[in-house]
Amino acid sequence: MEPSLPKNESVYDLQEFLSGFNSDSEVIKILNLLGVRPSKGLGQNFLIDASVSESIVATLNIEPDDVVVEIGPGLGALTRHLIGKVKKLVLVEYDRRIYEYLRDVLSEVDEVEVIHQDAVNFDIRPFYVEDSVKIIGNLPYSCGTEIIRNLLTFPSPVDLAVFMLQKEVVNRFCAVPRTKSYGVLTVMTSAFWNVERLQDLTYEPFTPKPAVDSSVIRFIPCGPDKFPPFNQRVLKRIVKCGFHERRKQLKRRLPLGFTDWGQICKEMNIQETARAEELSVDEWINMARIIDDNPLKDNPQKGTELFDVVDENDQVLGQKERAHVHAEGLLHRAVHVFVFNKSGDLYLQKRSMLKDSSPGLWESSASGHLDVNEEYHSAAVRELAEELGISGEIKLNCSIEPSERTGWEFVRLYSCEHNGPFNLPYSEIEGGGFFRTSMIQTWLKERPEDFASGFVECWNNYFE
Ligand code: SAM
Repeated sequence: MEPSLPKNESVYDLQEFLSGFNSDSEVIKILNLLGVRPSKGLGQNFLIDASVSESIVATLNIEPDDVVVEIGPGLGALTRHLIGKVKKLVLVEYDRRIYEYLRDVLSEVDEVEVIHQDAVNFDIRPFYVEDSVKIIGNLPYSCGTEIIRNLLTFPSPVDLAVFMLQKEVVNRFCAVPRTKSYGVLTVMTSAFWNVERLQDLTYEPFTPKPAVDSSVIRFIPCGPDKFPPFNQRVLKRIVKCGFHERRKQLKRRLPLGFTDWGQICKEMNIQETARAEELSVDEWINMARIIDDNPLKDNPQKGTELFDVVDENDQVLGQKERAHVHAEGLLHRAVHVFVFNKSGDLYLQKRSMLKDSSPGLWESSASGHLDVNEEYHSAAVRELAEELGISGEIKLNCSIEPSERTGWEFVRLYSCEHNGPFNLPYSEIEGGGFFRTSMIQTWLKERPEDFASGFVECWNNYFE
C-alpha cells in the first residue's frame, strides 16, 4: 500500500510551494519526498523556469472574478502564479500522490479546490453557473487532445483556455488547408474556437526533459457571428468521412444521401474533384449546411404563422398571426417536453441565435406552439420529432396557466425517456446536452438569465 497523507494536516511548506521548484534538484527533492517517480505515461515533465510559467499564465488575462480550472497542476509551476489572483481555482490532478500533496500544502488557501480525477472525464458542465470560466494546463501529452475534446466540445461553459501541448499537436490545431497537419482536429476545433499559437518551447525549461518540442495555444469561443449556424453532428460526420482518406476526391468519400454532388459543388463554387484537405473551415461548414437533411434546417419561425387564440378557459376564439399574438400578449397554447436519459439527467437545448425570442438561451428539451386545430399531445409528439428527431412514449406531467412568465401561453408539460443522439435543426437549436437535475437547480439559482422564462416556469411546476 502506498502511504497516504493525513487530510487537513499540513506537513508541507506553503511558502516553499509558492516560491516554486525552479531547478532539477529542487524538483527531484520534492518528488522523492512524495515518493513519485516521473511517469512518461502521465506526461510528468515539470516546468522549472518561472519566467516561462509566468508568461503562460499571463496569456490567460486573469481577472479577480474569474474561476480558473487548472488541468495537471503537478508541483504548481503555473498554479503559484494564479493563487490569490482569482475568485476560485480548481486543480484537477490524476496522480494520487501529487494530488494529496497539493491538497495538503494548499489546505489553508480558501479559494483553491483540489480534485483527484482523470481530466479526460472531468465534468465541466457545473461551471455554467459561473460568470467567467478559464482553463489552463501544461497537459500530459499522452492524452492532451482527449482532455481538450472533453472540455471544449461545444456547447462548453469555457470562456478562454490556454494549454501547453506537444508542438506537433498544436500544428494540427492551427493548420491551414493544403498542409499535412490540416485535418479533422483543425476543422472541428476551428468551427467553434478561435485558436492562436502563442509560443514554441524546446525541452529546456522542463525536468525531466521531454523528447519533443512544445507549444502554447489559446482557445477563445468564435461567438455566433463568425460562421452561419450549422449542425455539429453533420459537420463531424462529413469531415471524418472526408479526411478518412484525405487524398481521395470527396465525391467518393462523402455520405451524400440524396444530395447531388455536382449541385453542391456549384452552390459552393468548388471543383467536383475537390479533396478534404483543400476545403477551408468556412467551406466545410457551408457543405454541412447543404448536406444536412433535416427538413427544418432553414426554417426559422415566421411572424405570419397562424396560432389559435384562446380565452381564459383555453377555448379557441379564432386565429391570429404569430407576430400579432406575441405583440398583443394574446392567450395561446404551447407544449414543452422534458427528455430524461436513463440516469435521470435532463436534456437542455440551447436556442439558436436565429430565434425571434430568447435567442441563445437554454430551454426545455423540446417545445413549441400548437398549430391551428392541433391537440396538445400531438403537438408534443411533433415537436419531439421536429426538434430532436425522435419518437417515443410521452407522459403528461402538468398543465400551466398562462402568465407573463409563460408568454401568455397555456402550457402542457410532457416528459419521456431517451438517451439520444438527437438530430437538431440548426435554425432552431444551436446545441444541447444532458445535465444532472441538481446541477440545473444550482445553475437556475445562480444565473436565471441563462434560461428561457417558459422553461423556468416548466421546471418550477415539474418539481412542485
Ligand atoms: N503543471 C505542471 C507544470 O507545468 O510543471 C505539471 C505539468 S505535467 C506536463 C502534467 C501533469 O498532469 C502532471 O502533474 C500529471 O500527473 C498530470 N496528469 C497526467 N495525466 C492526467 C490526467 N489524465 N488528468 C489530470 N492530470 C493528469
